[in-house]
Amino acid sequence: MNEILNMTALELSAGIKKGEVSCQEAAQAALNVIRTRQDQLNTFITVTGRQALERAAALDRRKGSGPLFGVPGAVKDNLCTQGLRTTCASLMLERYVPPYNAGVIDLLDEAGTVLLGKLNMDEFAMGSTSETSCFGPVKNPWDLSRVPGGSSGGAAAAVAAGEVWFALGSDTGGSVRQPAAWCGVTGIKPTYGTVSRYGLVAYASSFDQVGAICRDAADCAAVLDAIQNHDPRDSTGLPGEYGGLLAGLNGDIRGMRIGMPAQLFGDELDPQVRHRVLDAARVLRDRGAQVEECCLPAADYALAAYYVIACAEASSNLARYDGVHYGKRCAGDVGLEELYLRSRSEGFGSEVKRRILLGTFVLSEGHYDAYYAKALAARDMVRKSFEELFSQYDLLLAPVTPSVAPKLGQSLEHPARMYQTDSYTVCANLTGLPAMSIPCGQSEGGMPVGVQLIGPAFGEQTLLNAAHAVQRETHWHKLRPPCFGTGGEGT
Ligand code: GLN
Repeated sequence: MNEILNMTALELSAGIKKGEVSCQEAAQAALNVIRTRQDQLNTFITVTGRQALERAAALDRRKGSGPLFGVPGAVKDNLCTQGLRTTCASLMLERYVPPYNAGVIDLLDEAGTVLLGKLNMDEFAMGSTSETSCFGPVKNPWDLSRVPGGSSGGAAAAVAAGEVWFALGSDTGGSVRQPAAWCGVTGIKPTYGTVSRYGLVAYASSFDQVGAICRDAADCAAVLDAIQNHDPRDSTGLPGEYGGLLAGLNGDIRGMRIGMPAQLFGDELDPQVRHRVLDAARVLRDRGAQVEECCLPAADYALAAYYVIACAEASSNLARYDGVHYGKRCAGDVGLEELYLRSRSEGFGSEVKRRILLGTFVLSEGHYDAYYAKALAARDMVRKSFEELFSQYDLLLAPVTPSVAPKLGQSLEHPARMYQTDSYTVCANLTGLPAMSIPCGQSEGGMPVGVQLIGPAFGEQTLLNAAHAVQRETHWHKLRPPCFGTGGEGT
């Protein structure tokens, strides 16, 4: 069975097309792994076993082609699924069953994929470790005493453990790229506005973007081809010509100019991570790219600007959960104010409350100019410095995080320290630029390390080609964690 599990999504769909594997066999194989691993890893909030098998059987009858036909995947539990509970890993939405599908869910359906369920995450996608879920923390398949990263930790861990061939996550400040790096899989956050946010539960709307986590860059290209479009239901969606990324994947990077911003290789960077990231830079250079150091001074303001703006937007977005309009309502016969107070106190966890308080503070009269307005100005500076860099470079290369995945529990005690681990990823969110994380080796302790590639707006093809070039030359993305698959042994 591990043979099917070890395939990429593209290999699996090719096998299905040739009649070597059925959609039902693939779905069943994945469901077996989920059953075996769920208690250990806690990657899923909801598993759609029966519906998934029925869907797979229907696809087997229909027979289709397409690069994702029959391929089982799963989505983060902040993407609305009609008739299927969507919790955002929060008590506030524990019983919420959406009456509609997110735009991307319908598109995955059209592509012929099989949805295996909803993936665990940080509550309302606020966090970097997937420990703030009301359903308990997700564990890292490479070391069960460590976090998988977050907030799309369930998505990255599920792909790494062989539970699904691909997953959708959301990336507001790094939540697709960072867990992908810590779990040794490939993740991409596309250009802001190129994937519909319709039906993605909002955290910080000017940053939120749906992204894909897969086994390799080619699979990411196939998933982006399926989900990128202009959806009029998302007012920030961008019209454009979408599709063709997989067809355009040639791995040719000769002459590509790649900059490495010195500010994203600061003193806080673990030397082991630095070395692995430089290994990836070397591969790109050997394949014909010109790689050199460059300067991004505004990067120093990125993290503070991100957390001010993200919390401000979160406080406004989460105001709707008051027990009347939306969300959990407290028990008992109480007055309106008491109802708001108790419903919100009981429904939200402490990290979400912290963000709402911080956001309300930075938006309040007397503090707005000192914090929020300043953060917007800093965001503009970051945007301008990236624009300048992209007049000289085709891509930027950096670490994804300063260190490998920490032990469970550490980050909860030091939230500010946890925020700091996002400094390399938030730049792409402040600017809306596409960015990827691909595996680039391991630490001495055997934990995965990721390298980040950041592209210009709509530069997904360039990003994917660079990632593909690295993956053609290396085996880093083929390493599997000890608990991969059903047998409990590595491959
Ligand atoms: N860790 C970041 C935060 O907590 C990013 C989260 C995300 O991208 N959803 O805001």
